[in-house]
Amino acid sequence: MKNQNEFRLTVDSKSVNESFARVVVSAFVTPLDPTLEELADLKTAVSEAVTNSIVHGYKEEFGKIYITGKIVDDTIKIIIRDKGCGIDDVDKAMTPLYTTGEGDRAGLGFTVMESFCDKIIVRSKVGNGTSVTLVKKIEGKAKW
Ligand code: ATP
Ligand code: MG
Repeated sequence: MKNQNEFRLTVDSKSVNESFARVVVSAFVTPLDPTLEELADLKTAVSEAVTNSIVHGYKEEFGKIYITGKIVDDTIKIIIRDKGCGIDDVDKAMTPLYTTGEGDRAGLGFTVMESFCDKIIVRSKVGNGTSVTLVKKIEGKAKW
């Protein structure tokens, strides 16, 4: 039997839940014995996706953010989904420095997610929302 585990979490689109999601993902990945760097990278990627759902997906409105996590052997997959406004052109949105935010946004969230994970899949439909899938293999301390 493979090493498998799953969780499901629904949170309100409030900024306090960025850190909550980070803590949940950290605790969930702990059995894979990640290095500090792997842990920091995963937490940062999750934060970026959750922040995007809050700031861009729901904007001034409030909605739910649906987070699922799955471990299969040494790989973790986290899906962050919102039912917000959606993205018109995903390729363009993922271009480094592209932002629809005002001034305070660097347009680097997707770039960070891509560089800190092995794979990222973004699915979106205008009016329906967005899902971001982050996949990361955890080499872990034990294998050093
Ligand atoms: P930064 O993350 O550096 O603060 P940013 O959020 O604008 O800036 P990205 O995270 O790379 O940069 O996102 C790029 C753009 O993609 C956003 O400006 C926004 O237009 C769009 N976007 C990202 N996530 C969502 C989402 N969940 N719903 C709607 N639009 C999104
Ligand atoms: Mg962002």
